[in-house]
Amino acid sequence: MASPHDYGAALDGARRLADDFLAGLRERAVIPRATPAPPGLPEGVGLEAAFAYLAEHVAPYLSASPGPRYLGFVTGGATPEALAADWLTSAWDQNVSNRVGSIAADLEAATLAAYAAQFGLAPSLQGRMVSGATAANLVSMATARQWAARTQGALPTVFAGSAHSSILKAMAITGIGRERLVPVATLPGRTAVDARALREALAAHAGPAVVVASAGEVNTGDFDDLQAMAPICREAGAWLHVDGAFGLFAAFDDALRPRLAGIDGADSVTVDFHKWLNVPYDSAAVYVSRPELQREVFAASSAYLGDDPDPLHYTPENSRRLRALAAWMVLAVRGREGIGRWVGDNCRQARTLARGLEALGMEVLNEIHLNIVAFALPASDAAARDAFLSRLHGTGEAFMTPTMLWGRPAIRAAFSNWSTTDADVERIVSAVGRALPA
Ligand SMILES: *Cc1c(COP(=O)(O)O)cnc(C)c1O
Repeated sequence: MASPHDYGAALDGARRLADDFLAGLRERAVIPRATPAPPGLPEGVGLEAAFAYLAEHVAPYLSASPGPRYLGFVTGGATPEALAADWLTSAWDQNVSNRVGSIAADLEAATLAAYAAQFGLAPSLQGRMVSGATAANLVSMATARQWAARTQGALPTVFAGSAHSSILKAMAITGIGRERLVPVATLPGRTAVDARALREALAAHAGPAVVVASAGEVNTGDFDDLQAMAPICREAGAWLHVDGAFGLFAAFDDALRPRLAGIDGADSVTVDFHKWLNVPYDSAAVYVSRPELQREVFAASSAYLGDDPDPLHYTPENSRRLRALAAWMVLAVRGREGIGRWVGDNCRQARTLARGLEALGMEVLNEIHLNIVAFALPASDAAARDAFLSRLHGTGEAFMTPTMLWGRPAIRAAFSNWSTTDADVERIVSAVGRALPA
């Protein structure tokens, strides 16, 4: 029996379970073919029995979402060094709510600054770690609302070509309200905003305006033209928010980097680390040009808590873990070039998949701007698409998610895993072929 004071035994048990999962990750069914009723909780059974229970009742029913052929959502996995740093985050168990008595908050700030430089953000933007792009969009909308209140005493109207659903959630939480989103026309055959339509919409609008730009749109991987939008926003006196949850990692690839031209004109920026950087959940950053307004919203001063510049005054959370360590580790270990390699590979793999799908008679609906392929079965409705997806998932070889694009039931395949190989793409195309209607 392991002693309840023995870290070694507990970590060894976790290590064995993790090794088994990771060793089988490439070959296990990408999503389990069936999952049993939710597992119970065996109370007070001790360490060995608890691990044995997890091995038997939980581990077989996990998805291979950190693996190479999971193309749902935009998911990413975890590199070895990111996983190790994440374990260390828990072992060190530092609270980054404040800067008192630990170097942790400074390490986080240094990590955020290093990534800001990679992304090409204006040096005046101040970064904070949050749990995901949803939280980053929330902080951005809350700060933009404060800016609108301070400058014009009104709620802002939000203009966007293709805003992620989390922008609407953020608008609801912050009291801006979902109904204040004004859709702006997009370019033909694209999800990127028509800059001319944006200029006209802003010119016709009275009152504070927030423009939400996409750097990497979820259905097509498209980029709004930030270089055109930034001066339009500046002239109209609008706040420019850039949601670059995954697309900001285009900055790590020389060929893709120009898509982000103009990002230094953003007032706030969202980026996820747990997607394309391939660090474990949950990890993201928000960068804001007006931290003093951000602080007006999120400050939680009290006699026993410190004052500026403690991190707790800038995001919804107070206590939280040293989230930045895994992101620090990936950049430290691999550098810009190492990260750029899988970003570039994933984009090339998306193009290869698109060609393979077309050869199978599928219709690719988007230009492959980045890492995402949106496609449809010929002349199919949503039911036929869903039946195809369940046959595909039944092969255990790949996972993709349904969507609607330009009014059509479609399927998205998003590459964002550091370990995906060209051989994986061949396996995916072959599985799609087998899942097609007879
Ligand atoms: C994934 C995503 C989000 C939401 O991110 P979470 O990390 O799931 O909170 C927001 N915007 C875009 C563009 C995304 O791709």
